[in-house]
Amino acid sequence: MTAHIIDGKAIAADLRANIAGEVARLNAAHGLVPGIAVVLVGDNAASEVYVRNKTRAVADAGMRAIDRKLPASTGEAELLELIAALNADPSVNGILVQLPLPPQIDAQKVIAAIDPAKDVDGFHPLNVGRHASGLNGLVPCTPLGCILLAKTVHASLAGLEAVVIGRSNIVGKPVAQLLLSENATVTVAHSKTRDLPAVCRRADVLIAAIGRPEMIRGDWIKPGATVIDVGINRVAGEAGKSRIVGDVAFAEAAAVAGAITPVPGGVGPMTIACLLLNTLRAACAQKGLAAPIL
Ligand code: NAD
Repeated sequence: MTAHIIDGKAIAADLRANIAGEVARLNAAHGLVPGIAVVLVGDNAASEVYVRNKTRAVADAGMRAIDRKLPASTGEAELLELIAALNADPSVNGILVQLPLPPQIDAQKVIAAIDPAKDVDGFHPLNVGRHASGLNGLVPCTPLGCILLAKTVHASLAGLEAVVIGRSNIVGKPVAQLLLSENATVTVAHSKTRDLPAVCRRADVLIAAIGRPEMIRGDWIKPGATVIDVGINRVAGEAGKSRIVGDVAFAEAAAVAGAITPVPGGVGPMTIACLLLNTLRAACAQKGLAAPIL
């Protein structure tokens, strides 16, 4: 079997184009230009790249990016003051604080300080709780992207056996919660799980969010399964260069799976598209407008 490759890049591009269309419509009808504040503290090289990509995508969608770059020496009180100002600014519909933060700042405190209505990362405890209670709220971007990709293969996830490997607050737990709301039968595996290959082999939908290069082997995969690889791991490549691989051994897995996301070009592009979607949804909710159906 050779798996269908789920083209996250193309699916994300479609979603972004739909979002841009909706933003243009909202602007024409209501004069609304959704604004997102992107806060970067310090000079982590990877974070700078992420923030640059996000800012560009925001502008491409016809939204307004408000960049706030602060030095690595920024204190917690100073960052909390900035968050309070952004919370109070009606032209800011979404607030994203790029993680990780420098060690002198408590990330949980900062996340909790963001107005939940503007929490486009979906990390605020109130949004996490709303989601767990089956109420509407903003959900984290990468998990949302995983579900949208899985649904390009399965019109419905109801009744499917879904296995999530990883239980982080950013990916594993929220993706499991989303799968549950889609009526899948969900198992969350992690570093203490016994006989992980056997657990994986049960999965109709396997979502890997581990951070270990190519850990999931081909013979861990149920024939015909849908594999969503969240991992982004930099490994040594040819001629002294590095390359990015996922948590799944792609070639082996593609020979067994029914459908699989590549790395790069799978979940990654969906994360940014879902950030735009969350910003659009947050802006509509704040203005009392119906959420766009995209
Ligand atoms: P994390 O380190 O917070 O969590 C990793 C999880 O994997 C933990 O819950 C741990 O229990 C589990 N784990 C670790 N070793 C294991 C093992 N040997 N067997 C089974 N489970 C094991 O990481 P995270 O923030 O959830 O990110 C996971 C991966 O996803 C990373 O590679 C990260 O770079 C990537 N990521 C990608 C995107 C994207 O946009 N594509 C977004 C976020 C994270």
